[in-house]
Amino acid sequence: MKKWRIPFNRPTLVGAEQANLDEVLSRRKFSGGGHYNAACNSWLRSHLGVSGVLMTTSCTHALEMAALLSDVQPSDEVVLPSYAFSSTATAFARCGARLKFVDCDPQTMNIDTAAVEKAITPRTKVIVALHYAGVSCNMQALQALADRHGLKIVEDAAQALFASYRGQPCGTFGDYGCYSFHETKNLHCGEGGALVLNRKEDVEKAEILLEKGTNRMRFFRGDIAKYEWVGMGSSYVPSELNTAFLLAQLEANETITANRLAHWHHYREALTPLREAGLIELPKPPDDCQHNAHIFWIKLAGKTQRDELITYLKQRGIGATFHYVPLHSTPAGRKYGEFAGEDRYTSRDSDRLLRLPLFFGMADAEVEEVTSHIAGFFEQARRS
Ligand SMILES: *Cc1c(COP(=O)(O)O)cnc(C)c1O
Repeated sequence: MKKWRIPFNRPTLVGAEQANLDEVLSRRKFSGGGHYNAACNSWLRSHLGVSGVLMTTSCTHALEMAALLSDVQPSDEVVLPSYAFSSTATAFARCGARLKFVDCDPQTMNIDTAAVEKAITPRTKVIVALHYAGVSCNMQALQALADRHGLKIVEDAAQALFASYRGQPCGTFGDYGCYSFHETKNLHCGEGGALVLNRKEDVEKAEILLEKGTNRMRFFRGDIAKYEWVGMGSSYVPSELNTAFLLAQLEANETITANRLAHWHHYREALTPLREAGLIELPKPPDDCQHNAHIFWIKLAGKTQRDELITYLKQRGIGATFHYVPLHSTPAGRKYGEFAGEDRYTSRDSDRLLRLPLFFGMADAEVEEVTSHIAGFFEQARRS
């Protein structure tokens, strides 16, 4: 395959990962529950201002735990955006719940709160808030709905670590918040995740799920004399190698986020003339959302033009890419759920959205190269 001049993503490396990995080798403690797991955990607790965090093997697994802790049953319905990742839906579908996919707000591509309200029935148990591109959902409206109808909120904050809504971190509003440390995310360890627990009574249940159905974590704390199998569970604990790598990135959080934000604003500024000419649309996060520059997207006139631009950029060595295929239109989405309400924006805007290369350590000249090729694409179209 042709090597990219500017790849879509270059996984973040801050340099301090190596020393932490060496430290793991010298400690000879590799399985979960060691020094670095505890260090990541306490770092997240203090920086998010929450008391309950568990490190997990992925955000997918954190979402699965959230669905199990919500006690989602086959008779239940879950309301979630159709513009979402497969894991967001699978976590609940595997509990047998019926999925009610709803429309998005085209400004953010986040779940549309008016559509959520219309989709709520007496069977609804959970609302899923996915903070797309690290821009928060309207948490005030969603919390009001959840309170009024007695529903749980699960936040898919995979992309939203250290993004916030009215000053409060995404992932800390709902009953459960799920983060990803996959290499495509702002901070990563190859594969990893974390689960925020906002209810004290969930902590022990979650520890059992995490530790293969045993009360081993209570045993490690010295609460009990032996540990045994006490319930359902799985193997959701990340190894020390992953958390050691991750701690280096968490500690560099401010540098990473500032760097990504600079590129994000650079893109916006450089592409503003094309927006003013009516050729593209640009993201404009709501004023009460502080985002983390996870994604820079643009919207084209339609799918044909979007796909032509992908090809045009690819021919010039630039990795720009589309994003979610609406879940309600996928084979599994049709099997496990259906669209509730009207699909005004989800299909239309997912077809015309394009994500541009954005990664830590990107050169300003790389941003300029991407934006000048986008301008070139429209120039060529105008001439032909
Ligand atoms: C990346 C991502 C996930 C999955 O995260 P993993 O850690 O790879 O399991 C889930 N939801 C969203 C919105 C994501 O962006």
